[in-house]
Order: sequence, then structure tokens, then C-alpha cells
Amino acid sequence: MAQSGSEVAAGHDLATPGTPMAPPAARRFAPGGLVRFIPVVVLIVFALWFGSSQAQNRAWLPLGIEFFYIAAAALGVNILLGYTGLLSLGHFGFFVAGGYAGAIFTPYILGGILGVNAPWFGFIVAFAFGALLGTLLALMCCHLRGFYLTVVTLAFGTLIPAIITVASAQLGGAGGRSVDKFPDTTNFLLARGNALAGIYYVAVIFLFATIFIVWNLTRSRWGRAFMAIRESELAARSSGVNTYWYKVASFALSAGIVAVAGWIGALRYLSVSAGSAGNVSTQSFRYLVIIVLGGIGTIAGPVVGAIGITFGFGLRWVQEHFREYNGLLFGALGIIGVATAPEGLVGNMRKAVRDFQRKQVQKGRARVRSVVVPDLPAELTLPRSRSLGSDDTPMLEVTGLTKRFGGLSALSELDISVKRGTVHALIGPNGSGKSTFVNVITGIYEPTAGRITVNGEIVNDLSTHKRNALGIARTFQNLQVWRRMSILENVMVGAHSRSKGSLLRSISGLNWVEERRIRNKAWGMLQFVGLAEKGLAEASTLPFADQRRLEIARALASDPSLLLLDEPAAGLHPTEIHELVALIRRVRDAGITVLLIEHHMDLVMGLSDTVSVIDYGIKIAEGSPEEVRHDRRVIEAYLGTDEHV
Ligand code: ADP
Ligand code: MG
Repeated sequence: MAQSGSEVAAGHDLATPGTPMAPPAARRFAPGGLVRFIPVVVLIVFALWFGSSQAQNRAWLPLGIEFFYIAAAALGVNILLGYTGLLSLGHFGFFVAGGYAGAIFTPYILGGILGVNAPWFGFIVAFAFGALLGTLLALMCCHLRGFYLTVVTLAFGTLIPAIITVASAQLGGAGGRSVDKFPDTTNFLLARGNALAGIYYVAVIFLFATIFIVWNLTRSRWGRAFMAIRESELAARSSGVNTYWYKVASFALSAGIVAVAGWIGALRYLSVSAGSAGNVSTQSFRYLVIIVLGGIGTIAGPVVGAIGITFGFGLRWVQEHFREYNGLLFGALGIIGVATAPEGLVGNMRKAVRDFQRKQVQKGRARVRSVVVPDLPAELTLPRSRSLGSDDTPMLEVTGLTKRFGGLSALSELDISVKRGTVHALIGPNGSGKSTFVNVITGIYEPTAGRITVNGEIVNDLSTHKRNALGIARTFQNLQVWRRMSILENVMVGAHSRSKGSLLRSISGLNWVEERRIRNKAWGMLQFVGLAEKGLAEASTLPFADQRRLEIARALASDPSLLLLDEPAAGLHPTEIHELVALIRRVRDAGITVLLIEHHMDLVMGLSDTVSVIDYGIKIAEGSPEEVRHDRRVIEAYLGTDEHV
């Protein structure tokens, strides 16, 4: 535990299991560092070089503009697809909407009604309109699962051209309308009197702003919540994330960014149109191909993909040879790319670098990277349970709790009262309703009847994330670790209910004091469960037993009063079970009430203060472990199912 302020080797993604830890001084592959910024510097140099050398080139300059705004739009789509895990096939609709909003609202609302002549406001207008439209669409579809949501976005994409055709007097019909009020870009930055070059620099600035936003987002409370939703929405809800609103926010942000790209596109062509419904689908699909070929869920990926799609397709040779076959080439690239390399160029490069580093470590030519764990107290801070309620209010009390699935009663008229500060075991044979109990208590399932009181407060009507904020945390029988996030990030999301920071603060990087607090807290939880030295590795690299401990650390990060452990020992070796028992004791000693769901009786014997036994959803016995062990009905229930007691 006493790792305060010291360096410990980390990065198990680099070390193979069994590889001895490197001595602390090794810093060869130190995480972070300035190396990460090389791609950004290269992009800046490229943008400046291209802008100055191609300023007069009427073929390449427009391609350059297109690259910068399409890359930014793809980054926007990637917030939804790559980080939040939601597939939209209608995002080009926001591109079109942004163009129209800039073209119509800027002059007529700002100029005509409010009397403000501020053409540069078009960017804000486009963002706001896109985000608003995205919010409205998301409000209608974010409660839907998987492909239902995608179908709604597809429908949205087909609606846009139809609306434009219907309102042809205002919107210009299929042919679109011209943009007649636009910002004067002739002297923007390095444009030197060339309006098109000015638009180029606008697009450049927009891409860098988007990179800045996404960079901050992915290192913030909001971005981590998005990724948690992608990896397991169930676990995200249970960890205090209001998943519906976070999905809506992700939608809105991504729509807003794409809409700004649409306004820049409108400035480049000085007209706006949507084309046909088919065009909207094709263009929306284009973003996906860009993202997937480049590398989904990365920042460099969409940018690299956009280079290929814009400059690659812009090459004279490609234009000449594939003029007729553009769609063919494009579709084939999509299929081949996704089928052979779903992680994309950047994802695969990353993998290759990691493999190379791992080999170097194995050969003894390099050391695993090291990480500095901040100064931390070794003990867990006392949870809120001490300050809440009077001491004899039960931590959890259920009365008449019933849950039916169709004709099956998974829980029947259960009365259970869990005393504050104790370890209360709930045991029963397989299928007796234990996990259902946890799901009803945490609000994943709504009870058919009965009352649930936590710390004296009735929680029946609270949603899952609110119950987490109230002090209920859980682990899962079937592990729900967010596999493609780091171990540390997993625990940081665990603290979601106990942290704050708006989306605006998150994307602008202004929440760093709070971020540091959350990170330090997460390190503390990892130390508590004994995983600190692996904190920076990806959660998927953890062995099974460690994933169980990670779930406990994540649950503890929400400062729970009541911790529900759903069969935490399932699948563990005897030594690992021994460690688990010690860990649960330490959790109890920190003042947290533990409800331990178990299948076997032996584990709970030395550990629990009270044991409740259920069979077919009915409570058949309750008392001290000794009393329960000798209860006739309990023995029968277990004998009847061939389980050993
Ligand atoms: P345990 O955790 O004690 O093994 P469960 O709570 O998982 O048992 O299941 C109790 C009973 O409820 C089982 O018969 C199971 O098939 C049923 N059940 C659990 N969840 C659902 C569900 N979502 N829909 C229908 N039946 C369910
Ligand atoms: Mg179960």
C-alpha cells in the first residue's frame, strides 16, 4: 500500500504476464510526453505549407479546404460513433442543415430582425442550429437500442432533402439556394486578398479547434462517460451516468461540429443544397468509411482517413482512371477496409508499435514504462453512510418485494432488512433470484410490487444513476468492465456521481483541477484493491480475478453507503477467494455496508454477520451463519439442487 509518491512500473499491456516488473528508474516508454504532439505539429506545418504554396492553385486549394472541413466533420461523427458507440447514418443531414442555417439565419435573423451585421456569427449560428437539431433527433431516438437508433438517423437523413423540396420557395428545392451574405475572408490570416485562401484558413482553424475539443473531451469526465456507454451501458448507468442525457449530449456535440463543417462547405461553393436522399446517405456513409479506414475511436484516425478520401480521390490519376467508377472504388474500399482491418490504419499502427515494444521488453532491450502514483493516504476515506440517517435505520430495507417475469416469479414477497455497517449475505441456489434482487435494488428492473428503502429513503421511483448518487454501488456477476478503457479510467468513471464539470468545461479543458482530484481518488481506490501498479494498462489485459477487483474499486469510487457484490467469488481460485474475503473485510471496516450475493455457503460463513437464504424467490431462512447452516429447509433446498452446502 505504501507506494505514495514513488514510481511503480505500469503498462501491463507492454509486459507479458509473468515478466518481472522493471525497476522504477526505467522510463523508456514513459506515457504521455511531447512525442504525442508530433502529429499535430506535422499537421500545422502541412497546413501552412499547403496554404502558401497552393494559394493560387484552383484544383488543389479547394481540395485542401475540403480536407480540413471533412476531417473535422469526421472527428465530429467519431464522437458519436467511436467514443459513444452509436451509429448514425444521417449525419450529412446536419452538414446540410448547418449550411442552410448559416445562409438564412445569419443575414435574416441576426441582420434583418436583430439588426446585427455580423457575418462571422454564421459559425455560431450553424453550430447552435446543428446542435439543436441533433438534440431534437436524439431526444426521440436515444432511448432506442442498437439498430433502431440507426434507422431513425437514416430516416432523418432522408427527410432533409424532402423538406428542402417541399419548402422550395425558401430553401431553393433540389437545386439549392445561393449564399448571398457571407463573411469577408479576403484578408483572413494569411489569405493576402485571396478569398478562397481565406476560407482555407477558416477550415484549418476549424479542424484544429475540433481536435482541441475532442482531445479535451476524451480526457474528461464527459468523454469517459461516453466511452463507458460504448463499452457497457448497463455498467455506466450503475456507475451514476445518466446515459440517456449523455447520449443526447454526444449527439448534439457531434451534430454541431458537422453543421459548422456544412457552413464552411457552403462558403466554399457559395451555395447550399442537399441533393437527393440517396446523396445524403452516401455522404453520411462517407464519414463512416473515413473513420473506419483511418481508425475508429482515435483522433488521428478520422484525419488520416480524410486525407485519403479527399487528396487521394483528388489526384489527377485517380480522377482520370476512376471518374466513372468513383462509387465502385469507394464501396470496395469500405468493404475491404472494414473486413480486413476494422481497427483502421491508426489502430493497426498503434498495435504494431505496442507489439514491437512488447518484443523489445521481452528481449530485455527495453523496460516497461513507469508511472508516478500521486501521494495518497492508504486508507479509504470514510463513506457518507456515517453521516446519513440515525444508526439504527437499516441501510437497506425491502418489504413485500416481488418481481415477475411473465408467469415466473423471480422474487416473491421478500422482506429483508440489512443493518448498517454489516456484511449481509444473500444466498440461494442457481436461479433462485439473487441477481434479480440486485437488479431490482439498483433500478435496472422495476419491481412488480414492494417497497425499497435505502437509508430511510424510498427509492422505488429513482432511476439507476440516481440510486448510485444516493450511495448504492454494485458489481456484476457477469463482469461488466469497460474493456477498452484503461484500468484507471474505469475507476474514474466510477466516481462519476461524486464529480462535477459541465460539457463546456470538459471540452475546453478547464476542468483540470477537478480531473486531477478524480484521478487521485481513482489511484487511491486502485491502491486499496491492490491494482495501482497496473493502472495505465487497458482493462481487457487484466486477468479475470483482477477484473473482479477492478469492479470493486470502480464501485468504491462512488463513495457508496451500500455495496452490492453479485457473486464476487465466482470463477476464482481458493487463494484469490482468500484475498477477496480480506478485501471485503477491509471494505466493511471502512464503514460500508456490504450485501454479499453468494451461491456457495462456505464463503459467507466466516465473513457475514447475517445470512438470508432464498429459493425460488422466496425467503426460506435468515439468521447468523451458524443458524442458517443447520436449517432444515436450507439443507433441503441445496440438496435438492445437487449443490454442496
Ligand atoms: P440467480 O442470480 O439467483 O442465479 P437470477 O436472479 O439470475 O438467479 O434468476 C432468477 C430467475 O429469474 C431465473 O429463473 C431466471 O431465468 C429468471 N430471470 C432473470 N432475469 C430475467 C429476465 N430479464 N427475463 C426473464 N426471466 C428472467
Ligand atoms: Mg445470479
